[in-house]
Amino acid sequence: MAVLDQLTSQQAIDLENKYGAHNYHPLPVVLSKGEGVFVWDVEGKKYYDFLSAYSAVNQGHCHPKIVDAMVDQARTLTLTSRAFHNDMLGKYEAYVAKYFGFDKVLPMNTGAEAVETALKICRKWAYEVKGIENHQAEIIVCKNNFHGRTTTIISFSNDPVAREHFGPFTDGFIKIEYDNLQELEATLKSNPNVAGFLVEPIQGEAGVYVPSENYLSKAKALCEEHDVLFIADEVQTGIARTGRLLAVDHENVKPDILILGKALSGGAYPVSAVLANDPVMNVIQPGNHGSTFGGNPVASAVAMAALEVVKDESLAENAEKLGQLFRSELDKFIETSTITTLVRGKGLLNAIVINDSEDGETAWNICLALRDNGLLAKPTHGNIIRFAPPLVITEAQLLDCVSIIIKTLKQFESKS
Ligand SMILES: *Cc1c(COP(=O)(O)O)cnc(C)c1O
Repeated sequence: MAVLDQLTSQQAIDLENKYGAHNYHPLPVVLSKGEGVFVWDVEGKKYYDFLSAYSAVNQGHCHPKIVDAMVDQARTLTLTSRAFHNDMLGKYEAYVAKYFGFDKVLPMNTGAEAVETALKICRKWAYEVKGIENHQAEIIVCKNNFHGRTTTIISFSNDPVAREHFGPFTDGFIKIEYDNLQELEATLKSNPNVAGFLVEPIQGEAGVYVPSENYLSKAKALCEEHDVLFIADEVQTGIARTGRLLAVDHENVKPDILILGKALSGGAYPVSAVLANDPVMNVIQPGNHGSTFGGNPVASAVAMAALEVVKDESLAENAEKLGQLFRSELDKFIETSTITTLVRGKGLLNAIVINDSEDGETAWNICLALRDNGLLAKPTHGNIIRFAPPLVITEAQLLDCVSIIIKTLKQFESKS
């Protein structure tokens, strides 16, 4: 077949299976177009996107303002590397630093790279500012975390599928229970070599686990007490997803290191960032760290446009309001449902738990039926389905989606 022939869904899937590494298990749907909250498959069927590329597309698919910024910059200058200055990077750095209220930013591309960058900054700060003996620094992380796929990051994952046969692993991490302040305090007290505490304000991949009220602010206070950096991984929860610009804003917490990715570009381009104030960020000197593409002119233009859209279109406010509506509508259904046990989340980062064992197939089958009914979502872990539409969704669209979800769940109710 010629390269430009329009493929059927099955042909596209067959090509991926034959020529692509099998590192994902996608829902069988082949998308070829997106606009706002909608995507279309190659046969022309239209769907609501309730994953938003893991919350990268908060601003909606192909947002015209972001696409224009990307295309304009792509016609002008795409990449200089950091060997030379360019006229977009400084503008972007000032914009993003002020936007989030930090002294400085270190630009990278993917979420995992930004997490790696934060860990390196934290370790260097431990030796050069805190005064921990070289090679002795420890970073506390939480069980069931998801921070990306590099060798160091999977070193402190406890997902066996993500880890098996990828060792040996990187040392220097202490794993504690998520949402457990006593264990955090005990670990901080018994270990003077702790340099940082890396945490997701809501554990997204694990199944949208929202911690207890005040967990983040109390954890931050404990870190301050022990001169330990509070590192917030807001790659998934940041940029208005949970109803505030950042999920830590719900508790008025200011992280020492903030990690962003995904929606920082509105899904148009891989853009990630690490933000910190000077006493932390200034440990990084020429040659310590870098990335050929990090902070390139296209990324800079795209990220500024993407962040402008968040404010111009009041996406945080919309996520807060429609998130409450979503959960209250589903709660009404769940009261009398046997197939769904609960809905949880913040803003428009939500999940429902399906009444099935963790290795059961019901959640997957529900996602296939949702697809057939015109809405795309995916199980996170086993029996949990995440619902995270683009934040540009309207109230009427959201209510339409609620009725699709309830109608679909009812199909399974009658089967059980
Ligand atoms: C997606 C994600 C990452 C990794 O981002 P990539 O761009 O896939 O490398 C890191 N942390 C969290 C919380 C994420 O959701």
